[in-house]
Amino acid sequence: MRNQLYLFNTLTRTKEKFTPIHPGRVGIYVCGPTVYSDVHLGNCRTFISFDLIYRYLLYLGFKVRYVRNITDAGHLEGDRDEGDDKFVKKAKLEQLEPMEIVQKYTLGFHDVMREFNTLSPSIEPTATGHISEQIEMIKEIISNGYAYEINGTVYFNVEKYNTEFPYGQLTNRKLEDLLEGTRELSGQDEKRGRLDFALWISAKPETLMKWNSPWGWGFPGWHIECSAMSSKYLGNTFDIHGGGMDLQATHHTNEIAQSQACNHTSPVNYWLHTNMLTVNGVRMSKSAGNGFLPGELFTGNHPLLDKGYSPMAVRFFMMQTHYRSTLDFSNEALRASEKGYRRIINGLVTLKTLVYQPESEVQDEKLNTEIERLCELCYAGMNDDFNSAIVIANLFNLLKYINSFSHKIIPLASLSETTFEKMKTTFIQFVEDILGLKEEKFYKPNLIDDLYDILLELYKGSKETKDYARVDFIRKRADAEGIIIKDTKEGVSWSYKE
Ligand code: AMP
Ligand code: ZN
Repeated sequence: MRNQLYLFNTLTRTKEKFTPIHPGRVGIYVCGPTVYSDVHLGNCRTFISFDLIYRYLLYLGFKVRYVRNITDAGHLEGDRDEGDDKFVKKAKLEQLEPMEIVQKYTLGFHDVMREFNTLSPSIEPTATGHISEQIEMIKEIISNGYAYEINGTVYFNVEKYNTEFPYGQLTNRKLEDLLEGTRELSGQDEKRGRLDFALWISAKPETLMKWNSPWGWGFPGWHIECSAMSSKYLGNTFDIHGGGMDLQATHHTNEIAQSQACNHTSPVNYWLHTNMLTVNGVRMSKSAGNGFLPGELFTGNHPLLDKGYSPMAVRFFMMQTHYRSTLDFSNEALRASEKGYRRIINGLVTLKTLVYQPESEVQDEKLNTEIERLCELCYAGMNDDFNSAIVIANLFNLLKYINSFSHKIIPLASLSETTFEKMKTTFIQFVEDILGLKEEKFYKPNLIDDLYDILLELYKGSKETKDYARVDFIRKRADAEGIIIKDTKEGVSWSYKE
């Protein structure tokens, strides 16, 4: 199975058979969040998509080193090294230290990732924790002739680089086309070329987050952190690099240029990009102001939402669409996903209770073949560029049979034991281990309180109908669980057994 994985490589724009650099091991780097604010659902889509990819690589038996960074410095407002540092701006707004901002939103991000049942990355390096690595890399790029310093700021020389390497390779564009899309340099610009970007930015007197460097006090540009941290933890060339497709044109294009200029090799074998989550066709983003926070979605506390949706229903909503297709947010789509998720989980619970009992009945050859085929289609879906949409369609097809077995419409014994086991492991592993869906037994916030109320109502009803055997039964069962049911003048209540 493991040799059959195909993935769509943005760099070559083709679906390629996946061959890791080191047999049995995979290195993967995903650009993580910029922690100056809460992540919105669009960001979550990208991280959940890579969680699916990570989970499947693990499932295939690879030893995976999954690096997802935290951007906690060096992020200016514009793509072109202009404007204010977002962290400092936010720190002033919230009257906090920039590092308090970083801590607050990193913890928030982790909480959200946990709610969505994503696996933690193997390493989660921060930009501020790797300043010296970034400085070393910049020094090397300068000494290799691809960068220059002006007034304490270091720029990458794109035109020089492009004489040797295709700078616009990742988006399949020529330098001339890229130049056409950028504004002319003005007298105030320090940089020599329109496409040149900062590797190191000189600090202004008011800059709060700054470090000393060979070029004076300053801070790193956004792109260099990913080049420095990916090569540190995964090597100068590694297997997979990912992120949202909005990062292709600038961030990832510049990462390739920096790494190539420093290490004399192309950094990444397979570039994977997730498509965008949209709202009414418009990309969800902080700047467009159409970004739902996961918390708003879980509670339903947002003008565009009819009601709240649980994290697993939302995860299922995302899994129903292939990661390279756009996914448009709507209440209707979410309601349908909630239903679908519950059907799948009910199937999972049912399946776990099914026990194979061979009987004398004749096995149904055709049925065995069909179930085996549906299982194979799940693997084929994932092997075809992690197509979770195909997987889910086939899980639903399997579910019809699971329900028929459970309702005894089809006798379980018409399957061979091998086919039954294959159906069971395929369904359970795909739902739980690969799609990362789990039962949300306790997601409803007041579920336990409501269940106690139901128990007390049953107790009261049994007393009223003088069904003392049942009254006794409820008392004893509750007692065994450490709950005492009390009859008082006001009615029935309960307390913990002391
Ligand atoms: P940021 O914190 O803005 O750097 O974004 C973190 C990740 O979320 C990046 O990989 C982005 O490409 C991705 N992203 C941003 N907006 C969306 C969106 N609407 N849909 C999917 N991914 C997104
Ligand atoms: Zn990055």
